[in-house]
Amino acid sequence: MLSGLMSLVVVGSIAFDAVKTPFGERERMLGGSATHFSLAASFFTDVRVVGPVGDDFGEAEYAVLHDRGVNTDDIEHVPGGKTFFWAGEYEWNLNIRHTLDTQLNVFGDFEPKLSEASTQASTLFLANIQPDLQREVRRQCTGAKLAALDSMNYWIETTRDSLLRTIETVDMVLMNDDEVRMLTEQPTLLRGARQLMELGPRVVVVKQGEYGASLFTEESFFSLPAYPLETVIDPTGAGDSFAGGLLGYLDASGSADDEISLRRALTYGSAVASFWVEEFGCERAARLTREEIDARYEAFRQMTSIEGVPAA
Ligand code: AMP
Repeated sequence: MLSGLMSLVVVGSIAFDAVKTPFGERERMLGGSATHFSLAASFFTDVRVVGPVGDDFGEAEYAVLHDRGVNTDDIEHVPGGKTFFWAGEYEWNLNIRHTLDTQLNVFGDFEPKLSEASTQASTLFLANIQPDLQREVRRQCTGAKLAALDSMNYWIETTRDSLLRTIETVDMVLMNDDEVRMLTEQPTLLRGARQLMELGPRVVVVKQGEYGASLFTEESFFSLPAYPLETVIDPTGAGDSFAGGLLGYLDASGSADDEISLRRALTYGSAVASFWVEEFGCERAARLTREEIDARYEAFRQMTSIEGVPAA
């Protein structure tokens, strides 16, 4: 049996992105939520990626994943198909992003059929994609001890009920602050997080872009700022690489129940995401090392500690 081995499986978009930021643009680069996530998680654990691609997805794209050891056996090549395409533009305030185009292409009629190894992975991440697909993958992943989900405004607007049903099936939700507000229609994040937990998940992680991330459980709260960067070139993939670091660490550690592991995971996620945004798309991943991630983890520890600083 394969269960017992630590591994992480992710389903989500595998994409080509066109991105414009105030600091430059790329007309066509490798992207997609599952791509960013799997590259980031590969610094911590074994990763398998699930999703369809078209004829335009070639050796060069596979090589980016293989060079980081990501298992692509469950990437399905659809003959005659075109890979998911997304175009977006960022304002000077890089927290504000406009989607210019979303073409589902091969995701339009994708029916996931996971390999035995993927269904038995210890951790499952349902990255941003159509929630019906997320739920179908959740159903197949009988070996997952920890299942988490991300989504975005596009799916909240078009498939809200399906998304809510998918949330019922996971242990952890990771979403942007705006998206939590949009989905729950609650005025504060605490209330929004509570409402999501009432659906089933026991952990809610709220991503707040440049301002960091917060973690809610029934008994606890933890929050970190984003790593202070002099230069941010492209925020695309920040959320997915954050999730990849967070869940990659949790999968490797084998425990997602205790407060220390969750705090450490949030910090690893934040450290990984801080590298991602320093270059376009997932370009930084190829040169990134675990040592660099650990050094930034340590910087976070020093930057955020108020131990030994009692009230005056
Ligand atoms: P983020 O981490 O939120 O910056 O995610 C960026 C990635 O999400 C890009 O590489 C896009 O290809 C992908 N993406 C954008 N819109 C969607 C969508 N509606 N569904 C799935 N993936 C998307």
